[in-house]
Amino acid sequence: MLGLMQDRPLSLTHVFHRAERLFGHKRIVTGQAGGERETTIADWAVRVRRLATVFDTLGLSADARVGTFCWNTDRHLELYLAAPCTGRVLHTLNIRLFPEQLVYIANHAEDEIVFVDRSLLPLLWPLVDQMTTVRTVVVIDDGADAAIPDDPRIRDYEELLAAAEPFAGTFHIDDENSAAAMCYTSGTTGNPKGVVYSHRSAVLHSLVTLTADAFGLAERDIVLPVVPMFHANAWGLPYGALLAGAELVFPGPNMTPAAIAEQLARHRVTVTGGVPTIWMGMRPLLAQHDLSALRAILCGGSAVPRALSEAYREAIGIPMLHAWGMTETSPIASISSGRSHQDAWTEDERADARARQGQPAPLVDLRIADPESGQELPWDDEATGELQAAGPWIAREYYRGEGGGTQFTEDGWLRTGDVAAVDRWGYVRLVDRTKDLVKSGGEWISSVDLENEIMAHPAVEEAAVIAIPHEKWTERPLACVVVKEGRSLTGEELIEFLTPRVAKWWLPDAVEFIDEVPKTSVGKFSKRTLREKFGDYTLPS
Ligand code: AMP
Repeated sequence: MLGLMQDRPLSLTHVFHRAERLFGHKRIVTGQAGGERETTIADWAVRVRRLATVFDTLGLSADARVGTFCWNTDRHLELYLAAPCTGRVLHTLNIRLFPEQLVYIANHAEDEIVFVDRSLLPLLWPLVDQMTTVRTVVVIDDGADAAIPDDPRIRDYEELLAAAEPFAGTFHIDDENSAAAMCYTSGTTGNPKGVVYSHRSAVLHSLVTLTADAFGLAERDIVLPVVPMFHANAWGLPYGALLAGAELVFPGPNMTPAAIAEQLARHRVTVTGGVPTIWMGMRPLLAQHDLSALRAILCGGSAVPRALSEAYREAIGIPMLHAWGMTETSPIASISSGRSHQDAWTEDERADARARQGQPAPLVDLRIADPESGQELPWDDEATGELQAAGPWIAREYYRGEGGGTQFTEDGWLRTGDVAAVDRWGYVRLVDRTKDLVKSGGEWISSVDLENEIMAHPAVEEAAVIAIPHEKWTERPLACVVVKEGRSLTGEELIEFLTPRVAKWWLPDAVEFIDEVPKTSVGKFSKRTLREKFGDYTLPS
């Protein structure tokens, strides 16, 4: 017997129309050079409708990938809705990636157009000739004075909008499983891989951000996403805030802790979210600002240090709300919000619990598995295994099948590359990582790529790069290097050699010379042995 409920596609068009109909009076504030600008959801919605017309006049195909190369702004939010509501696919490009990676990603996704903030144009424009499918580059003037090249491919965002009639109808998406947005992750080995979100996954994920034990986003909230809109849709905060009817405050190009602290205080922000590095930077400023309106500081992307969370609790009365997820998990997969069984615990015990990555969000299933046998392991907080995830907003494969399915189990679960223990309450505790990467300030450094560059030095026999905990950046790379017999090499010489070869923020913070890189039984570098050896290594500050 079938249920007799209406079968309406879950699509982001609902998020747009609901915000437009019910919350037109709510504000959207954006930081910009020399101050801030303020708009309302009503005015923003008209611009989304104009943008829908612009896509058609520019001749974008029905499922065109619409690239964005932007800061967190109201304009970016226009693209966030206009692309998926017209059947196109929002493709947020990570402004921090290397030029080669950006070119690879834009070509792999076959972006037809890229919208770019003027302040970021100098990073993007030199690459556009190599982005073979990009026909148009639309510049969003954010007040920066970056030169705009005289080229027929370049169009001005405001001119296009001014010339376009707002689309007058109701946006509609037939198939809730069609693609709404995509985001490439560099958190795997090899080339970045495309994660493709569907309308259905985006709506269900947004709904969960509204649940009380997740972020509890509500109409009364004022939400400031510090996490970039090119990182897994800013953790779902923009779509969640629109669905709830909350107000939004965007930092724009000025992402300094001082500017963000000022916005948090000035706008009486209630919910904010970002990687630990940003909260680390803001810590010394807490006493200078009235942050009493804040009710939740979401933190994730890297493990949230217990001491950081406690410092906030002591200074402003709220600890971090620790969450874990990945680009592949939309990203909210587990949240470390408090539970009634913790009420009788001491503050110290509760702080320990908050340092864990938390319980699975509703509709998300997590399990830990033995890496060799694939056998599921018990939730006794002792057994550690690979964390695997399943659920309606968890990727089932990468765009165009990249990675050969190795990151997915035979029964369809995502293999996260994180190693965890789980306690009897279902609270995940990450203990290690199988993916060979360093996460610095929320961005990935590939140990393998860095090792290859180091091993290109004629005096280097072999080299291994491991992550060392770092107060500001969470992790930084340490290079462990074996010098060829009869050759000599100093740390400074190696860094000098690497400087033109890798991005500045990839350069190892220290170089340790060792006799041999420890190997596993099958002859691979044993990073685990190295990590144990350098367990309490202190990086130079
Ligand atoms: P990304 O896809 O770049 O968001 O990276 C996802 C990865 O970041 C995860 O697989 C973890 O390795 C790491 N990560 C995310 N959140 C946390 C957290 N709360 N604690 C520890 N590691 C985290």
